[in-house]
Amino acid sequence: MNLANNIELIASSPKSGHLDVLVPRCLIGNGQDVLGTSIDKEGLSPIQVEWRDGTITSIEGLKQTSKLPEEILLPRFTEPHAHLDKAFSWSRSSNLKGTYQEALAANLSEYKLRSRDELIFSVEKSLNLALVNGVRAIRSHIDSFGKTAMRDWDVLDDVRKKWQEKIFLEFVALVPLEFWQTDEGELLAQRVASNGDLLGGVIAPPFNKRKTFHSLSHLVQLANKLNCDIDLHIDESQTCFAGGLKILLEVLDQVKNDISITCSHLSSMGLLGDKAISNLAEKMAKNKLKVVALPLTNSWLLGRKDRTTLIKRPLAPIFQLQKAGVVVSVGGDNVNDAWFPLSNFDPINLMAFSMPIAHLSPWDRLGLSPFTSSAAHVLSLQWDGIFQKGSPADFVVLDSNSWVKTLSENPQRRVVVNGEFLNELTKTKNQH
Ligand SMILES: [Zn+2]
Repeated sequence: MNLANNIELIASSPKSGHLDVLVPRCLIGNGQDVLGTSIDKEGLSPIQVEWRDGTITSIEGLKQTSKLPEEILLPRFTEPHAHLDKAFSWSRSSNLKGTYQEALAANLSEYKLRSRDELIFSVEKSLNLALVNGVRAIRSHIDSFGKTAMRDWDVLDDVRKKWQEKIFLEFVALVPLEFWQTDEGELLAQRVASNGDLLGGVIAPPFNKRKTFHSLSHLVQLANKLNCDIDLHIDESQTCFAGGLKILLEVLDQVKNDISITCSHLSSMGLLGDKAISNLAEKMAKNKLKVVALPLTNSWLLGRKDRTTLIKRPLAPIFQLQKAGVVVSVGGDNVNDAWFPLSNFDPINLMAFSMPIAHLSPWDRLGLSPFTSSAAHVLSLQWDGIFQKGSPADFVVLDSNSWVKTLSENPQRRVVVNGEFLNELTKTKNQH
């Protein structure tokens, strides 16, 4: 059988296909597959990728003589930090001043009144957008400290089941830290753990050091007892630099910990001096702490002062953490709510806006990994988003031949889910 026939056969079988595309070299798992293939100055290589039954069967470098592909291939994305339960609540809960304190107050009053239908609207709208924008997995924090907590988790369990073929979902119960010491907290924790979800909390100044140490140490012990992971909103602030992180590290000195702990935000750590940052980063690496940096909400909310523009911005020190061996990803955080009015569950949009803030470049391996493989590692997903034979055919195909165009022009995209193009998937569904 000649190659053309072979390709036709592949294209006609279900969940199969092939594409000539440009692929970031750092996303190709096996160098042997692309040995001698050209690489442009933005780190993109011309590749032919083939897949069958939803799995990549071949990755091959294209010869110099062939026409250069005009699309970029990326893995479907992982969103490591979202708030699906309050997304798109801006119209009923705005925060025009844009401060952290006003966001918190607006969030609390919106949460008290949030109906089941409003919750479903937020989550469904978010997931529909995320899917067409090329997202395959989301970790979302869920406000869980009110009377409606169990009702909300019932809703979310149903949503998760409904969406399981399209987007992997995991949830973090977001409560005040001391809530985990109550009977109600214990009950919620058991439910969360039984679903493979995570325990959460907030550590931001002003806090009482002793009380926080006590609550945090209780939380770490509870999570270990139930064998479930933790994701904390920690040091989302421009004061008391890394105050929460220091307490967490003290707790981990005294409590045996075998579960995975993610530090979301970690913004004020970036305001410490170089030496202090590298000392803390090393301790974090030793304790296998993971980090989700959230440049958009940090830039919008933190350090606002009436008519003064803050020049030195609180943000997790991404490069220093990476250098120490800490897994760092970048997340989108809030979307169209009191914490952040903009954004739309679009990972390309997230890259375009957060890369300039965080000095990350898409053509550097460590500039791209926070949006791809590291985000997958934070969620401990089976596939890290690196392309090789045997990995899932889960793609975002961008109508663009350069990173600069991609991040400037928001190109058209096609999304491949488990070997099938999303637009064709919806077409077949509509025909039935
Ligand atoms: Zn958050």
